[in-house]
Amino acid sequence: MQCPEAGKPIIKFNHCQKHVYSFGVLRRCPLCGQDVGSRRLEEAPVSISEPFTNGHREKCSFLLRPTRGTFLREYDGRSDLHVGITSTGGVVYNYTVHGVQRDEVGWEQSVSVPLLRPGLFGLLDQWDKFLEDFSATGAWLPHRYEEDHHNCYSYALAFINCVLATEGEEPLDREEFTEKFVVPRTRKASKYIMLYHVIEEQGFYVTEPPSPQTGPGPGSGSC
Ligand SMILES: [Zn+2]
Repeated sequence: MQCPEAGKPIIKFNHCQKHVYSFGVLRRCPLCGQDVGSRRLEEAPVSISEPFTNGHREKCSFLLRPTRGTFLREYDGRSDLHVGITSTGGVVYNYTVHGVQRDEVGWEQSVSVPLLRPGLFGLLDQWDKFLEDFSATGAWLPHRYEEDHHNCYSYALAFINCVLATEGEEPLDREEFTEKFVVPRTRKASKYIMLYHVIEEQGFYVTEPPSPQTGPGPGSGSC
């Protein structure tokens, strides 16, 4: 079985006045065929950080992963996502039709959102008990599960709202939760996955660098 987190690192370099993305440093620029040197600082390759982390190494975090498969192989931007909450030891608590699961494997390629703000680490000592007690309430028994209305998101959101309450903050409703926690990360993940797949197919990906001109260009202001 292939290791699910085995993504190749993506790097970006500048050549031919373009941004070129590839897996590892290319010897020659795919556009002009010349050697890619890093004689100039602005041509030096930089690595693009992967939006995924091993969820089992993230403590006190909210995690997202595709319900089936992995982000880099199966996720197409619309696939169903499964979410969970990590303990301080990287056990992922998540609610399914079988009740609350405590996963020690399977979240190696996740998008992670830390839930404890710096300064609130007092909660760290109680986190595991808090998560365990929360999960043991009747609300999360298997027969209460409903695919659309009482699912992994309901569970994670209710737990996050408990954390927010202890931090003296207002609860989030489902829409705010999705906007704040889910959409920005899946958008970033989708861009990365698109880039990854193009490099996989073509060997590289090219974009125009942002225009150095600032202010309104010619023709702007007309209707
Ligand atoms: Zn070139």
